[in-house]
Amino acid sequence: MLTCKELTEVITDYLEGRLTLGRRLSFRLHVMICRPCRAYLRQMRLTIGALGAPPAEPVPPEVLEEMLRRFRHWQR
Ligand SMILES: [Zn+2]
Repeated sequence: MLTCKELTEVITDYLEGRLTLGRRLSFRLHVMICRPCRAYLRQMRLTIGALGAPPAEPVPPEVLEEMLRRFRHWQR
């Protein structure tokens, strides 16, 4: 069983589907019996939903370059 502290540490992994099945189950179990964590999970979902995804990071110039290169390639 997860503790409340552990839950807050893995919550983003849970929301992004990165937890193993066992971890996910104990996460859900904890959320079922723990009201504050349920509220916290709902809040996190709303936050992530509002942002559309994890916060966007600026694209590094070399990645942008690579994307542009591929894009030009497709056009030929
Ligand atoms: Zn809890």
